[in-house]
Amino acid sequence: MYCVGGEKIMNYLPLFIDTSGKKCLVVGGGKVASRKLIPILKSEMEVKLISPEIIGEISELLGSSKNLTHESRKFEEKDINNQFLIIAATNDKSTNSLIAKLAKEKNILVNMAEDSLKGNTLIPSVVDRSPIKIAISSGAASPILTRLVKTKLETVIPYSFSKLADVMMEYRSKVKKRFSDIKDRRAFWEIFLEGPLSEMVLSGHLNKAKKALNKSLEKGDVFGKKGEVYLVGAGPGDPELLSFKALRLMQKADVVIYDRLVSEPIMNLIRQDAKKIYVGKQRADHAMPQENINELLARLALEGKKVLRLKGGDPFIFGRGGEEIESLIHDDIPFQIVPGITAASGCASYAGIPLTHRDFSQACIFVTGHLRDGTVNLNWKMLAHDKQTLVFYMGMHGSKIICEELIQHGLKKSTPAALIVKGTTIDQEVIIGDLSSMPKIILENKIIPPTLLIIGDVVKLHNKLKWFDPFNMQGKKNILF
Ligand code: SAH
Repeated sequence: MYCVGGEKIMNYLPLFIDTSGKKCLVVGGGKVASRKLIPILKSEMEVKLISPEIIGEISELLGSSKNLTHESRKFEEKDINNQFLIIAATNDKSTNSLIAKLAKEKNILVNMAEDSLKGNTLIPSVVDRSPIKIAISSGAASPILTRLVKTKLETVIPYSFSKLADVMMEYRSKVKKRFSDIKDRRAFWEIFLEGPLSEMVLSGHLNKAKKALNKSLEKGDVFGKKGEVYLVGAGPGDPELLSFKALRLMQKADVVIYDRLVSEPIMNLIRQDAKKIYVGKQRADHAMPQENINELLARLALEGKKVLRLKGGDPFIFGRGGEEIESLIHDDIPFQIVPGITAASGCASYAGIPLTHRDFSQACIFVTGHLRDGTVNLNWKMLAHDKQTLVFYMGMHGSKIICEELIQHGLKKSTPAALIVKGTTIDQEVIIGDLSSMPKIILENKIIPPTLLIIGDVVKLHNKLKWFDPFNMQGKKNILF
């Protein structure tokens, strides 16, 4: 027992207990009892609930759980006999106190649902990646704090961690047989967890991982030297739009190969000691030709490195992700692809422009506006239609041709258009015009890429739905033409 601010806090010992064949009594039939029942019913205990009345949620649990029974009556002193754990969760304080007193006298574990310090047991919050379980408790100081810790842990421990534990369990005795010295065993598992095999398991390639494990146990070498590649979408700019998986792999990689579209706040999240290689990719500034990027990825992985290929937005949307992966397949290098939020959805959301809308647009087309030899060779007939949204990536320099062709093929000059500059970042600007005004606006203003061009009636909604306002933060004005 110790004190915080004068208040006594019990000193609890975290324990994991085998519950098979044990009995649990829950007294109470309301919301509190129902909340407590949920984790308890995941155990193998035989649970009896005593309460004259029960709420709907508990009836549902009774219908769905084999190990729960209900007796519709009040609590009696003799009910505590033979119980392993008792939950006192009635709405009557004196009954709860009586249950706690009786249980403590007989050294039975008792949890007081509403006033946990009066019992002798806390039911922790659990991050469940069975067989791995993380139990969290704040010693009854603050359930909100406990929830916060749980949320944080849930985000950093992948769901598929269970599979990893299962594989390690399955191979425990085989590895023990192969390596009699505990130091060698530990080294084997450490390399397994750090290397591509654990990523294979986490990304669902269980059979492939097991094959490689068997092979390395046979040969006695520890998985060879081959590294792996993570092709990861970094989203459009705001680091909070990264996925959990993207962040995890960013913190695992030894080398990072990135291009211009990856924002600085995102680069700051990469493992500090990772080597960073810039490979350009600005219009007209291809710092490294694509073929060399493909080769570089393969070479570094073959050296045994964990290589992160970090790309703006989504790697499979105007990202040449496919080409990069192809060369890895050729060399049999393990890889994973992590999607990112593409510029279209990121910029549209942050500009308050829904890409589809029941009244204005039933389809959305992502188009590249990248000019090869000064022309944009697109199916204009298909693009120039009412009730659809066009999103042009790399469209700023070709905007004059794009707007003219769309008008020529039947779209009204007054069709609304939005240019979103540096979408989702603190420098985001949204420039609103129409097909006739947009090229002039772009020509007359010094606009710094990246920019995304959205064309269609949905753009009208920007005025009503805009919510992200970095301008105010920086004392700038909104730009409307
Ligand atoms: N794979 C990326 C697209 C790469 S093509 C994705 O899925 O988003 C590069 C083009 O994407 C840029 O020329 C620009 O048109 C668009 N783009 C990317 N990030 C952007 C951003 N933050 N704001 C506006 N446009 C962006």
